[in-house]
This record gives sequence, structure tokens and C-alpha cells, in this order.
Amino acid sequence: MNVEKTTREICPAGLPPRAPADHSSRSPIWSSVTWPCASPAQADAILGGLESGYAYQRDGHPNADILAEKCRLLHGADHAVVTSSGMSAMALAMLTLLRPGDHVLLSSRLYGKTVSLFTGQGAAWGIVAETVDMSDLEQVAGRIRNNTRMLVCETISNPTLRVIDLAALASVTHSGGARLLVDNTFASPIVCRPLEWGADLVVESMTKIMNGHCDVVMGLLCGRGVAWQAVSAGLACWGMTTSPFACWLCERGLITLHVRAVAACATALEVARRLVGLPHVRHVDYPGLADHPDHAIAVRQFGTAEGARFGHVVTLHLDGDETTVAALMREMHEIEYCTSLGEPVTSISHPASSSHRSLTPGERQSVGVGGGTIRMSVGLESADFIVKTVQNALQRLD
Ligand SMILES: *Cc1c(COP(=O)(O)O)cnc(C)c1O
Repeated sequence: MNVEKTTREICPAGLPPRAPADHSSRSPIWSSVTWPCASPAQADAILGGLESGYAYQRDGHPNADILAEKCRLLHGADHAVVTSSGMSAMALAMLTLLRPGDHVLLSSRLYGKTVSLFTGQGAAWGIVAETVDMSDLEQVAGRIRNNTRMLVCETISNPTLRVIDLAALASVTHSGGARLLVDNTFASPIVCRPLEWGADLVVESMTKIMNGHCDVVMGLLCGRGVAWQAVSAGLACWGMTTSPFACWLCERGLITLHVRAVAACATALEVARRLVGLPHVRHVDYPGLADHPDHAIAVRQFGTAEGARFGHVVTLHLDGDETTVAALMREMHEIEYCTSLGEPVTSISHPASSSHRSLTPGERQSVGVGGGTIRMSVGLESADFIVKTVQNALQRLD
């Protein structure tokens, strides 16, 4: 039988020439699933973590390591891993740092899927989760039990943008013998580095402003003072590794993070100020506005030499309900309705029908979400463009 030779039979190992990985300006994409080992002993040492190197992509690959190292430096962490989504980063923390029977306190203003993770999936696994208002430290201290192992909050919460006093919460958490995990997605390390305020673990949905180009789903888990062996072993066992191409794209996104985030925060502050008092706008929530309940915390916690940055999300509450929001959207073609945030273009979303749809109207009200609430993720357009677009659409509502 005439069997064609495979390319491998024709080209000896190492041909065609390998990419000059050591002198390109950008990292190559190491798409290989396997790295040949010199001997069974070497495979054993690499897979056992005794020798550095790569053997199998799910256990680790260069693009993930390069990206994780950059993120580790951005957050001033001891250790960092990148995962297949923001949710898998959160799940990795739950699955590797908690045990059945452990008690977890969740902030009452938490991303819906995080609540489902701990109270639904986690409950089936023996985790006992309870929610508490984490702006009320006395209440938090009173709810910590002997078996409380973790507190979970967000630096800036969705959609009323409440800001947690991380140093104070970390101190209450540590007095109770627990760890503080902070979801920093709405801030990014450009606005806040929670580990510097005493948090033990940080999660970022890199899908949002960290990658910032709306083309990757990815998460980050990093920490300080946490025994990391369980986390890195868990990453491979639970199969939460992310792909070389996704890591490479995200590394590209990170190159401009500081420029994008600084610009979006400055624009968001100006947009928030100019939306106040427009017709049909009942209230604007933004931590950079003096009337926001956490303005003082935000100024202190998010301060830089050039002044504080308050994030790129602005929330407005319209007089009216979802029909008003629907009418506004019909008039506002330049700004799209998207349920994500941190993209290069400004977008809006409607929490009552998206992120907060599983709550009852009463529960929604208690976290400040009404039918007329709109969350705006400010992108890289000018403040003038954004304000005029909203203003023109609001005028057409009359
Ligand atoms: C989007 C988001 C997540 C989940 O991240 P994915 O990358 O979508 O899995 C978690 N927390 C917050 C605050 C988010 O906005």
C-alpha cells in the first residue's frame, strides 16, 4: 500500500526553523499542547513541579506565565494565575481555599453569578454562604463565626458603585481569622490595588477593562501571604487553564491598560458631572461626585499624585421605568446596549433586566436598582460626544 510520508518523517525534528522567540518585540504564541521531554525522569520532574519547564499545556504554558507575571506585578502580589474566565478565577478560589463546612460571608452587593457560585454550586459542595452589607463593619464583625474562612466583596459594586473601605474590612476579616477576597473588576489595578490595603486575594474579570478590546474572556486570581500550592495544583486539576491565543491577546490589551483606564476614568468623571441635572435624569451615581455615599472613602483609597480616579462606570437613574429606558435606547444609536463593560467604546446596560434580573423588585430596590436605572461603561470617546449623545436622546423623550 502506498502510504504518504508525514511531514514529520520528511523534516527532522526542529525543522522548519523555530521562531526567533528571544528577539521579537512581542511574545510569540506558543500554541503547542506538548513539549517533548528529554527523559522519563525529566517528565516526572516537570510534571511534579520540581523542575521548571513545560510538558503539557493544561498544566502550564509560556503565554499564561508571561501574562500572569505581568498581572502579579500590576497588583504587587506574591503569586498570580490566569484562568479561563473571571468566574473560573472565583471558582478556583472557592474550590482550592475552602473546604466543605466552611462559612463564607458575601457582600450584599455582588455580581449575580458570584452569588450563584457560592450559594448554589458552593452549597451543593458544603459551603455555607451568607450575605451582609459590607459597608457596615459592625454588622460584618457580628456575623463572623468560628468557621468563617472567607469574605468576598467588590472594590466598586454594580450598579450603584458603592466603594468598600478595604483596609477597615481587611482588619475586621483578619481579626475573625478569615481571608478577604476582593473582586476588583470595576476598578482594575490602575484605580486600586486591594492587596496593598490588606486584602489577601484579588479576582479580576480580565474580560473587561484589563484586556479592554472585547475579544477575550479571561480571569485573574492573585494573592499575598496565601499558600499557593493548592491554587496552582487546583488550576490544572479543575481544568481552568486558558488558551495561549487568549493569553497573547490579553497581553496585547494590557500594554495600553494604563492609558485606556486613566482616560476612561477622567472622561467618566466629566460625563457624570455633566449628566447631573439633565432632563429626565433623577440621580447620577458615581464615586467621584461629592454626593456619593462613599466619596470620602474613594478619594482616600483611589488617590494618586494626580488626584483620585473613580472608575469608568457611571450609573444614572431616569425618571420612569424600563419603557423609558427602551425609548431612550431607540433614540441613542451611537451608544450600544451591551451587558459587558470596559470596552473601547461606550456602552449602556439595564441592570433590572440583565445583571439583576433574578432578584425580586423589592430586592432590586434594596440595592438601588430601579426600572429606570442605566449603567454606562465609559469608553475612549470624548466626554462631549458621550454627553451630547445622551442629551440629544433625552430631549427626544419629551
Ligand atoms: C464580568 C464580571 C465577572 C465575571 O467575569 P467573566 O470573565 O465574565 O467570567 C465577575 N465579577 C464582575 C464584577 C464582573 O463584572
